[in-house]
Amino acid sequence: ICLLIFIAGLILGYDARQIFVTAVAISVAIIPEGLLIVMTVILAFGMQRILEEKALTKQLLAAETLGSTTVICTDKTGTITDGEMRVVELATLDYNFKLFAEQTKKDDQGGNELIKLLKIGVLCNNAYIENPEVGLEHRIVRGSPTEKALLMMGANVGLEKNKLEKEEPRLAENPFDSAWKFMLTLHKGKEENWAYLKGAPEVVLSLSKYIYSDEKRGEIEISPKEQERLLAVHEEMSKKGLRVLALAYKKISNKIKTLEGWEQKDFVFVGLAGIKDPLRSEAPKTIREVREAGIQTVIITGDHELTARTIAKELGMPAEAKNIMNGERLAKITESELMAVVPEISIYARVAPEDKLKIVKAWQDRGEVVAMTGDGINDAPALKKANIGIAVNSGTDVAKETADIVLLDNNFATIAKAVREGRVIYDNIKKVVFYFLSDGLAEVITVGIGMLLGWPLPLLASQIIWINLIDDTFPGIAMAKEPAESNIMKQRPRKLSEPILNRESFVLIGAISLLSAAGTLFFFRFFWQQTGDINLGRTVGFTFLAINTLIYIFSARNFYRPIWQTNIFNNKSLLLAVMVGFAMQAFAIYNGLAQKVFQTVALGWEAWLAIILSCILIIATVEAIKLFYSRKNV
Ligand code: ADP
Ligand code: MG
Repeated sequence: ICLLIFIAGLILGYDARQIFVTAVAISVAIIPEGLLIVMTVILAFGMQRILEEKALTKQLLAAETLGSTTVICTDKTGTITDGEMRVVELATLDYNFKLFAEQTKKDDQGGNELIKLLKIGVLCNNAYIENPEVGLEHRIVRGSPTEKALLMMGANVGLEKNKLEKEEPRLAENPFDSAWKFMLTLHKGKEENWAYLKGAPEVVLSLSKYIYSDEKRGEIEISPKEQERLLAVHEEMSKKGLRVLALAYKKISNKIKTLEGWEQKDFVFVGLAGIKDPLRSEAPKTIREVREAGIQTVIITGDHELTARTIAKELGMPAEAKNIMNGERLAKITESELMAVVPEISIYARVAPEDKLKIVKAWQDRGEVVAMTGDGINDAPALKKANIGIAVNSGTDVAKETADIVLLDNNFATIAKAVREGRVIYDNIKKVVFYFLSDGLAEVITVGIGMLLGWPLPLLASQIIWINLIDDTFPGIAMAKEPAESNIMKQRPRKLSEPILNRESFVLIGAISLLSAAGTLFFFRFFWQQTGDINLGRTVGFTFLAINTLIYIFSARNFYRPIWQTNIFNNKSLLLAVMVGFAMQAFAIYNGLAQKVFQTVALGWEAWLAIILSCILIIATVEAIKLFYSRKNV
């Protein structure tokens, strides 16, 4: 365009030097060189706001991608739930799988079975009490929430880990991992050694051959009848939303000191522990908000599907059989099959960490923008693959390294808040692009049409650059501080393919720049002809073009609401930027030195009145176009 203006200017017989400088000035005006800076500022402010909501964004651009998230895949444990677990039910064979309340005493009926159960829970456990010398309620317990719960349960009935470990020191260990879902330890006993096993009930059951019973004096083989009863109790506990663990033991020769050299099967099953992990109180509300924002929440858990289903129901999520997929089926299903059913599935239960990658892929193949949470080392591939990888603060360093965002408070609600901020960031980038384009275009049109009409240049190069400085720098940066629009979480996520400016924006840009150019040309010509002073004509046109942008910005910054429904005072930075703009323009036309540089003259009140009235006319036009489109979109 600038080249065109330069060539056209030469052909039309303008002074070559003047037209060259003007063409350069126009290129300064139309090339939004400030955009890069302003975008960076917007993203940086956005990151800061996200941080205030307790999420740490590791990459600038992730803050923007967040805004287009369409699917959030989240861990249940610790993110949707509190992560503060308590054992609330215990079950063994002889009490007909009666569920004991948590205040079970050592000398309660239940005797040996129960003691055995709790002892395994305490010994096959990597949590520890930092200050065992103090009373129970002052203890500081470290470790995974599940293991902490079991440890405290044991301590409640006098089974202290440090004492038990003196009697039966640990020889070897295979720690818990979500991939195999059990933990195994080997302990040195008086005569024999003992292996203790705890884990997901299916896993423990598959490794057990016997079940321990007081009444029947010892270990009996598990018959189908016992197995059935076991599963029934497991189901009953799970349906209450409890996380269920099974505990078992095996007697081993005292010659064996490691986990090798013996068969890890034929364990003696002892019982079940049901652990309550309450929902975070804000979780149901957040899930609702996220859904209103057109974002689907998917819950991923290593827990049993019945547990997950109950939790999903409490959250108000779809929890029919068709909405749930377990790890077993997930392992068998092909990628294309999964892609077809993935929108239906809101819960994945008993998954292994690798499955997360498959879920992310399936969604992404459908064109969705996926946020995925994770904490473990084997979550890293899924975190990397997801558009937004979110590590929880309690997670491993590997997960945090790989993720784009770290949730400082582990809370699902924080993801929703971060998404909201991401949308604000995108909106603000959109506003700035819009604003820069409409402003620059007005200057090009003014000069272009002026030349076509064969007039002297309506704007001087120095004036164009001054306008650029006033309109683009400070107001542009102030746009980074634009607050969220009130309906921001009521809209569908934008499509990735959606251009930053839609048809409506282009119509608005066209209308604004054409009207501004027309106004500038009119003022230039009118005041010049009335007085014979071309500098006066230019000054009025120049001032109109500079001021006009500072005023319509209040109307154009919200595409959805009429200006009288917006609060024009809610962005203090913008108000300040506009005031600075007015002051700078006043300087350019009233300061003696500036008058020489810009070839301006002081303006009287008539000129100002005309300028302000025209600005109001432009706002009216912008509002009319907004109204037209909002009617159309309803
Ligand atoms: P999540 O990803 O939802 O935290 P996990 O994979 O950690 O799920 O747990 C899956 C299952 O493994 C649980 O339902 C429980 O039965 C069992 N489990 C969990 N933690 C432990 C542990 N520390 N030791 C043994 N078994 C565990
Ligand atoms: Mg876990």
